[in-house]
Amino acid sequence: MVDLQGQYSKIKNTVTNSIEEVLNTSAYINGPLVHDFQADLEKYLDVKHVIPCANGTDALQIAMMGLGLEQGDEVITADFTFAATVEVIALLKLTPVLVDVEATTFNMDIEALKKAITPKTKAIVPVHLFGQVANMDAIMEIAKAHNLYVIEDNAQAIGADYTFKNGTKKKAGTIGNVGTTSFFPSKNLGCYGDGGAIFTNDDELAHTLRGIVNHGMYTRYYHDVVGVNSRLDSIQAGVLKAKLPLLDSYCEARRNAARYYNQAFANNSNIITPTTKSCGAICATCNCHVFHQYTLQITNGKRDELHKHLLENNIPNAIYYPVALHAQKAYQDERYNESDFPVTNQLIQTVISLPMHTELEKDQLTFITKTILDFV
Ligand SMILES: *Cc1c(COP(=O)(O)O)cnc(C)c1O
Repeated sequence: MVDLQGQYSKIKNTVTNSIEEVLNTSAYINGPLVHDFQADLEKYLDVKHVIPCANGTDALQIAMMGLGLEQGDEVITADFTFAATVEVIALLKLTPVLVDVEATTFNMDIEALKKAITPKTKAIVPVHLFGQVANMDAIMEIAKAHNLYVIEDNAQAIGADYTFKNGTKKKAGTIGNVGTTSFFPSKNLGCYGDGGAIFTNDDELAHTLRGIVNHGMYTRYYHDVVGVNSRLDSIQAGVLKAKLPLLDSYCEARRNAARYYNQAFANNSNIITPTTKSCGAICATCNCHVFHQYTLQITNGKRDELHKHLLENNIPNAIYYPVALHAQKAYQDERYNESDFPVTNQLIQTVISLPMHTELEKDQLTFITKTILDFV
């Protein structure tokens, strides 16, 4: 699905130099490279504060702790996403409220969001799924009207731009009160281990978050709040500092592959290609979808057969996601009705994600698309 080896071979020298710098100074934890990377990412995202942490799941948890969410508070998120989002809500004894998604963008459905709001609702967690930013115009408007926090789960869309209805642009993850991301190796900006970060423009919240990631300490050995230990280590920061300048070109490479796929599948009535909301087409200049995944919907009932057929032909592919969160054993709840999730329930049967990464070559794309078109 990804080609981390191919990508590494092109940046070997820069990455190795970065790692060697850490080894030579032995500043493994909170070393200068962590601060350098933090500053670089703040500049890239045009956000006041980046708080590095150990992984994207911690980032979500720490963001929710920092906002002071308490047991029983309802937090709304999408039914069709990776479990980390709902996992931390449950872990903090908050009440997860899952809502259906749009069939076009796979992101949180705005009407479903509106219907899910109750007097107990405290926060909305939009997930910018597969690299496309959720409808933040609508989500921010709803949050403002109901006095709710917005936590953007930006693990899959780092580098994406969101263009508001009034024409202003912001980087994904910097729109809500707080945004989170993951630097898991296969993410669009991946390190060579685990890593994550939290973003915010709120000075007070940033201060709180910096304490929480470090055992609730604001002064050494004085623990003001209950915190956690969640650090980005210096070696990972070195890798990320070396890769951040390449992020835009990585996004561009992914968009190029997506454009190729889209054209190849355009005339097949059994295949729905991903919708790109902000600009309609996958344009060369805007960055509204950064294709963490390239996900098709197979509408003739043969998705599972295609999955097997591709594997037999040595074409990696994956079903993201095979089970709706509301149907997962850990997250079932009496409040849910199957009729609340028509889109997710359909998507889990039709979606299939194709190889998507920065190193896809034309002959690979040709082989993949031809194999699919011959079968579907
Ligand atoms: C990867 C991912 C996470 C979790 O990130 P980790 O670094 O693996 O903890 C959270 N949310 C989404 C949407 C993800 O894709």
